[in-house]
Amino acid sequence: MSNLELLPINVAGQWRLGGGDVYESLYPATGEVIARLRAASLADVEEAIAGADKAFRTSGWAQKLPHERAAVLYRVAQLIRANAEELAQKQRLDNGKPISETRALVASAAGTFQFFAAACETLEEAITPSRGPYVTLSVHEPMGVVAAITPWNSPIASEAQKLAPALAAGCAVVVKPAEVTPLMALELARLCEEAGVPKGIISVLPGKGSVIGDAITKHPLVKRVSFTGGTTTGKHIAHIAADKMMPVSLELGGKSPTMVLEDADLDHAVNGVLYGIFSSSGESCIAGSRLFVARSIYDEFVTRVAEGAKNLRVGDPASESTQMGPLITARHREGIERYVDLGVSEGGRIRTGGVRPQGEGYDKGYFYTPTILEGLTNEARITQEEIFGPVLVAMPFDTEEELIAKANDSIYALAAGVWSRDFKRAWKLGRAVQAGTVWVNTYKQFSVSTPFGGWRDSGLGREKGREGIFQYMEQKSMYWGTNEQPIPWANAL
Ligand code: NAD
Repeated sequence: MSNLELLPINVAGQWRLGGGDVYESLYPATGEVIARLRAASLADVEEAIAGADKAFRTSGWAQKLPHERAAVLYRVAQLIRANAEELAQKQRLDNGKPISETRALVASAAGTFQFFAAACETLEEAITPSRGPYVTLSVHEPMGVVAAITPWNSPIASEAQKLAPALAAGCAVVVKPAEVTPLMALELARLCEEAGVPKGIISVLPGKGSVIGDAITKHPLVKRVSFTGGTTTGKHIAHIAADKMMPVSLELGGKSPTMVLEDADLDHAVNGVLYGIFSSSGESCIAGSRLFVARSIYDEFVTRVAEGAKNLRVGDPASESTQMGPLITARHREGIERYVDLGVSEGGRIRTGGVRPQGEGYDKGYFYTPTILEGLTNEARITQEEIFGPVLVAMPFDTEEELIAKANDSIYALAAGVWSRDFKRAWKLGRAVQAGTVWVNTYKQFSVSTPFGGWRDSGLGREKGREGIFQYMEQKSMYWGTNEQPIPWANAL
């Protein structure tokens, strides 16, 4: 056990040690302990939610005019930018992503706050057409206390995606970061406070999902849960939400197809496929993990992708040139290795990768080589189940009908990629594939102004986009009487 000082957590605006177990955050590149904290206890959950409810009712945050809340959110964006390098380095240590990626995540968090500040300030409500002697209005009210439960793969960006619109709406937010990556949510809460978000409006409660996350979700004062994570956890949360009649948004898993037609620009497609599956070490919900290539170009294309995969720079996340860092934990790497073994037992051939890299710098961290399997069908378990690692299954296809049927043959429907120079074919495929996001001649590009979410087991609801603020608000219709006479029915005159 390391003797690093224990970090405080945020319980209703009080920075103090949690009442739960001691957690250690390990640097996945070396296994070193980089931070220690005491997780939240169930008593902390109670206190945080009661405090959030009080802050919602009494701090004045919900009553601020939109441009006043927006000013605070703009300051959060500025503070994130002012602290960008420190945040990016801390996140690299917390989850092992290459520094180039953690810098991008920090920039995205700042952009998210800026966007929702602008949206908050400019969002309009409606006067609806009247059908009687009254003016009808559709307005929105903040829900109250809401929860943000996030996974470990893109901290700060995931938290910003929930915190910024919820704060813009005027809500109080209880954040439950993933067990293995608690640091960025705490940093973000500090910056929000520094920017002027009243104490108590944000709590950050690190701890075990099945205990702390569960207690937050079940709490009667929590009016909405915005969850990003695995599909099994998402379904569990949906059941609790059904009992409480609570709205939820669920951003869940994926097994996204990338489709390469014979007329594609192959240089672009090779790069896009490599980026789509191997960036973030494949620990990405939208990883393009099923590759369908037109049979006439299959050999040439997969050979080029395999060469590209072999040449990726796997290693030290602190190095500017690293493309793939380690996996998040030793356990997660073992899970991925079991999947690759399963793929081989299902008849797959490893085209490249499938091993831990050897040599200096690799001995202590949880590194794995970019891996491509072939010879499998779309029905194989390794082709159907989310691996959440750097493993691509490549398959040839003959006709577009077959391609569409296979692309859609998955419990998931989060994202898809189409590579073709033929506008009409790309349009047809892009419309036929069932997915929350379709990239045509690009992949894994994100904009906070564009709604994001999944179909089927990939989730429920959408985040991002101006409308994202309304997730955290209840809609209210108001009828404003304009009649000179009383309502005639009662005949009380
Ligand atoms: P996970 O479901 O294990 O955990 C996610 C969060 O939920 C963590 O904070 C965890 O502590 C908490 N949690 C766990 N059990 C809970 C419970 N019973 N009640 C309440 N909270 C609980 O997921 P993970 O392993 O952290 O993340 C990987 C998964 O996230 C992958 O499936 C990936 O596809 C998905 N993901 C989806 C998106 C998206 O936007 N669709 C983005 C990133 C990750």
